[in-house]
Amino acid sequence: MSLIVQKFGGTSVADAEKIRVAARRAIRAQQEGHQVVMVVSAMGHQTDYLVDLARQITDDPSAREMDMLLSTGEQVSVALMAMAIHSLGAEAVSLTGGQIGIRTDSSHTKARIKSISTDRMKKLLENGKIVIAAGFQGIDEDFNITTLGRGGSDTTAVALAAVLNADACEIYTDVDGVFTTDPRLVAEARKMDRVSHDEILELASLGAGVMHSRSIEFGKKFNVPIHVRNSASFSDEPGTVIGAESESANRAVTGAALTKNEAQITIARVPDHPGTSLAIFSKLAEVNVAVDMIVQNPGADGSADIMFTVLEDDLPKTLAAVKKGAVELGAETVLHDASVSKVSIVGLGMATQTGVADRMFRALADEGINIEAITTSEIKVSVLVNRDQALAALRAVHSEFELDRPPRDRRAYGEVSKVGGKASPLDIVARLQRMEDLAIESVSLDQSQAQMTLFDVPDRPGVSATIFEAIAAENILVDMIVQSIGRDDLADVSFTVPRAEMEHARHILHRLATELGGEVRVEPAVAILSVKGIGIRSHTGVGLRMFKALAETGINVDMVSTSEIRVNVVVEANQGEAGLAALKSAFADVLG
Ligand code: ADP
Ligand code: ASP
Ligand code: MG
Repeated sequence: MSLIVQKFGGTSVADAEKIRVAARRAIRAQQEGHQVVMVVSAMGHQTDYLVDLARQITDDPSAREMDMLLSTGEQVSVALMAMAIHSLGAEAVSLTGGQIGIRTDSSHTKARIKSISTDRMKKLLENGKIVIAAGFQGIDEDFNITTLGRGGSDTTAVALAAVLNADACEIYTDVDGVFTTDPRLVAEARKMDRVSHDEILELASLGAGVMHSRSIEFGKKFNVPIHVRNSASFSDEPGTVIGAESESANRAVTGAALTKNEAQITIARVPDHPGTSLAIFSKLAEVNVAVDMIVQNPGADGSADIMFTVLEDDLPKTLAAVKKGAVELGAETVLHDASVSKVSIVGLGMATQTGVADRMFRALADEGINIEAITTSEIKVSVLVNRDQALAALRAVHSEFELDRPPRDRRAYGEVSKVGGKASPLDIVARLQRMEDLAIESVSLDQSQAQMTLFDVPDRPGVSATIFEAIAAENILVDMIVQSIGRDDLADVSFTVPRAEMEHARHILHRLATELGGEVRVEPAVAILSVKGIGIRSHTGVGLRMFKALAETGINVDMVSTSEIRVNVVVEANQGEAGLAALKSAFADVLG
């Protein structure tokens, strides 16, 4: 018998009528012959309301009590859902996270799932019941109630689908599926028929609020087909399938996203030697601040600027944590800007196509938008812009890459078969126990690249576009691009190219330096060390572990870029092998 998990988000259970509609959907699935597990969120904006209530009592609520409070939202909706199913003549039992046996760690308000027991759910399902699970919650070792972080019901749903070896996980929400960007921000956004795990992982972490990014980590790790659909559509319109394949094999860019409320911190002119990044980021880890973009490029005078972003709300905490450390490290100053936003483009095709980043930069320049900083990974380009221009920037890139139009080679919506078929019983036992552990796929060394830097170019709209258009015009594939916040109206831009293209690229840069101003430096041989895996960003310790391993080996980090699925660092060529060995041993416990 097949088993499906159906998750209903807040707006899909916002009132009694919507609860009844969801109940009918589950009953219909049962009548079609499936065993059904429902995962339900708190009604409407109930969680926001509870957060607000807590704020009315205190500015600094205890995290444990916050979880006690927030978990009540889901407890209300599962009970009502069970009643709705009963009243429609079917059988159902509601369960809290604790009653299911969703064990988490004790990091209240952002707990990670450690294990799930399936006995009780299975027994109920075998007895013909619909199981209604409260989303977003679990219990720790001491039976304290925990929550998984805002949006966490998605993660509950995909986790249950994984351990129950479900045939599908359906996510019912208030939009028709996953769109090329948030349809509330860009009216032209288009619903995609398919999106790959890696793309949606990046999009979700770069601001696409449609799915909790940790749920996608589960989907990828445990091979769960996910269907995102509109709960309001009666006709079972096809939504979006999240699986191994993307919608198009050729399109370079598949989606765009915006993170509105970021704050940028630059530690300016720190002496560039081993251990600097480690010192800074361990200070942030101590105060539990998640770092978002990290941008470091080589400085002109042996010093480096290290720029990173955090959510705006975390800025005061962050400044307090790094200011003192930065002075001790010998940094010249610490600068910050609390009014920036991050705009990103994502696509699997980007990894192999030239002329993607420069199109984004040109589209922004044409709108008169200055790029404050750039960071890339193989499947995304993120830029930091002034918050006033963020929406215009998102719209400009969405239209530049014609995301409103379906790709010519579109793979239409359809069922996905589970890669490798159903999981084995042994595999399931393993799943039950190692749910959200960090899983590193590979630690690798790339010695094929040269690093190019253009120092002190004017910091104004169109400069990055001019640089990368010139490079793309010669068909040179650029790998990493890093631009940190400019100072004194000047910015530094670094990137890597295949060594064979180095002279070619140098030539172009010299020409650009004469046109734009600035100074060229070429590092003919650099080593790029990468750690790739699942959970890289949500396990905030990954970057730190890397910096630590490299610092202890006396290796200086020259350039850094991060994404949802990997962290890349550039080091000197002759330190590549030693760096690789250090990283392999640092991640030995989680290397698959
Ligand atoms: P739920 O309560 O069902 O979990 P959410 O509010 O968490 O719903 O997520 C759905 C919302 O996500 C949509 O209303 C939409 O505004 C927003 N969203 C952001 N980015 C995207 C995107 N790329 N595709 C679809 N929706 C998006
Ligand atoms: N109710 C929780 C929230 O609003 C969890 C969820 O809806 O996914 O964040
Ligand atoms: Mg949600």
